[in-house]
Amino acid sequence: MTIAESYDVVAIGGAVMGSSVAYYLAADPDFSGKVLVIEKDPSYQRCASALSAAGIRQQYSCAINIQISLYGLEFLRRVGDVLEVDGVRPDIELLEGGYLFLATEENRPILQANHALQTRLGADILFLEPSGLLERFPWLSVGDLSAGCWGRTGEGWFDGCGLMQAFRRKARSLGVIYLSAAATGVERTGDRVSAVLLEDGTRISCGAVVNAAGAGGPTIARAAGLDIPVHNKKRMIFTFVCEDEVPHCPLLIDPTGVYVRPEGRGFLCGVAPPADADPDTDDFEVDYSFFNEGIWPVLAARVPAFERLKLGRAWAGHYDMNMFDHNALVGLAPGFANFYLANGFSGHGIQQAPAIGRGLSELIIHRRYRTLDLSPLTVDRVLNNAPLVERNVV
Ligand SMILES: Cc1cc2nc3c(=O)[nH]c(=O)nc-3n(C[C@H](O)[C@H](O)[C@H](O)COP(=O)(O)OP(=O)(O)OC[C@H]3O[C@@H](n4cnc5c(N)ncnc54)[C@H](O)[C@@H]3O)c2cc1C
Repeated sequence: MTIAESYDVVAIGGAVMGSSVAYYLAADPDFSGKVLVIEKDPSYQRCASALSAAGIRQQYSCAINIQISLYGLEFLRRVGDVLEVDGVRPDIELLEGGYLFLATEENRPILQANHALQTRLGADILFLEPSGLLERFPWLSVGDLSAGCWGRTGEGWFDGCGLMQAFRRKARSLGVIYLSAAATGVERTGDRVSAVLLEDGTRISCGAVVNAAGAGGPTIARAAGLDIPVHNKKRMIFTFVCEDEVPHCPLLIDPTGVYVRPEGRGFLCGVAPPADADPDTDDFEVDYSFFNEGIWPVLAARVPAFERLKLGRAWAGHYDMNMFDHNALVGLAPGFANFYLANGFSGHGIQQAPAIGRGLSELIIHRRYRTLDLSPLTVDRVLNNAPLVERNVV
């Protein structure tokens, strides 16, 4: 076994979350330590950050998620300035087309309660009756609907892979080292992780470790003796084009959970499978019958223009789903003084990366959150059986 250098902070996983934490650490004038990011697949082919639908919204049921996305949006709007390197400004093509959550009579009270919370926290969300929905979106079938909530500004989609690369490039320009290697374990001494172990036997000693391994997060946590309720769930995205115009289409979420949004000259769509058909998985296979049977009929009923469409490319990625309450697990791992978690993002991690990176860097450098308090996302809630349930999981 060879002893490699020692680092002040080691992030395991170098996609959007690991790179965001690394960037915020390196950019903090109060921090002069060495940061290493260990990434097992520098092609990033299968990480969630590269396969994401990359939407950002404030339409959540938990205050902390709304606050995180409000910061995320502000960050995305000025990403070209913040993550510029050598005069090259990243363009992540943020398009603020809004999310449109639709509700039947049964779900209307939930929509109303969420809307009240979102607007109280400063989100620009309109509550629309069916007539208001038709006025704005005349191509929509509203017969079975009681209401909808639409993000007039501040919600939309962007180039998620571009955001990941921009964080990475900026972090490297600030001195962060990226190592192409797989972490297989950690060495624990009392309440501290003293080293990260690599597949080739290398031992890297460290002052702190961040578990930003996405779908690989539970394995890293287990290596430290910690069980986190995070499971890999396959989510497929299908693209299509349609001849008829669907002007100003937002990211629409049908009451069934089927979602669709514009993508280039066409659209992309998806839905979570029913819980009893959603096993933990390692596979990336696309099942086209899922589109034909589970998605298309819903789309065609909601937007008649989608009755005639041409299916295009499709892909599958993995949500690191926190089965305890569908919210991220962020902060110090219980029983540790220097092992930090950034896991279980449950399908809303790419928009959360700026706030999580900023928050974790504050916790590591200053021992407390200084801007947005992320403590509601502490993993202690699992130990205390106190779930923070997010109702709006797309
Ligand atoms: C289909 C799909 C649609 C989505 N849509 C949205 C959306 O609209 N909006 C939104 O906010 N979020 C969305 N998400 C979720 C979002 O993409 C993720 O939450 C986010 O990208 C997670 O980033 P991450 O860096 O934590 O994980 P990942 O992007 O998965 O990266 C983890 C990295 O860790 C590396 N790694 C793993 N194990 C090891 C190891 N042992 N050693 C070294 N490296 C390791 C992996 O190679 C990988 O590069 C979606 C996800 C999917 C799959």
